[in-house]
Amino acid sequence: MIDYHLHTKRCGHATGLPEDYLLRAEAIGLQEIGFSDHFPLSLLGHTPKAKVTMESEELVDYIQDIEKLKEKARIMKVKVGIEIDYFPEVEEKIGRLLEEYAFDYVIGSIHFIGDWDFTHPAYAEGYRNLDIDRLYVEYFELIEKACRSRLFDIIGHIDVIKKFGYRPGTDLGPLWLKMACVLRETGTCIELNTSGRDAPVGEFYPNQPLLEACLAERVPLTLGSDAHSPEQVGRYFPEVKSLLSEIGCRELAIFENRVISSVAL
Ligand SMILES: [Zn+2]
Ligand SMILES: [Zn+2]
Repeated sequence: MIDYHLHTKRCGHATGLPEDYLLRAEAIGLQEIGFSDHFPLSLLGHTPKAKVTMESEELVDYIQDIEKLKEKARIMKVKVGIEIDYFPEVEEKIGRLLEEYAFDYVIGSIHFIGDWDFTHPAYAEGYRNLDIDRLYVEYFELIEKACRSRLFDIIGHIDVIKKFGYRPGTDLGPLWLKMACVLRETGTCIELNTSGRDAPVGEFYPNQPLLEACLAERVPLTLGSDAHSPEQVGRYFPEVKSLLSEIGCRELAIFENRVISSVAL
């Protein structure tokens, strides 16, 4: 199996060097890993209260570190990816920045609505006074825009808005069908991100109905643990393997120089 969502201590809220993640991946028998540390928010003109990304001057070293690891790794394939925050107002800037660096794949994620880092435990009280139905609409409108920008190969943790367990009162079935169509139309891949299981919500991203809707639309799927420490590499993968075979998913998407291909599950 593959793990395409690994962080490193550069982002300031993870531990471990790339080598440590590689060792763990080898120990549990993965075939391929990809690092997707947080792209410097400062380059997008954002300065959040908590440090959540590497600094702009670290980006080149980050890429070089992973490139070196590619050579060091014997059997394991290693890819250099990045996780970048999507803000609709800086689409052009993101496009220009991504042209400057050679990534194997780019994960587009939404962690912020305006200045609010709604994925950060320190700001989770922000949900309390909100209309959750409205919030979901706003969040998935951003996801749709992120897809339509065609800046990203993969959308990260697509329903992370559920992270702290706040759920809307409405039936989300139609929304999942719509999202699956948007992903298909725009040729955007999603990831099954297992980190949600360890969040208050206690379930993978995306939830099963959205995952199945994506499968029905033949949206490519990749897999990531969103590891912020080496021991989290491949978390819950045996369970993922049975889940995916059960719902008829037989392959996972992989990337090289931003070109997609697939490996058997
Ligand atoms: Zn992170
Ligand atoms: Zn993320």
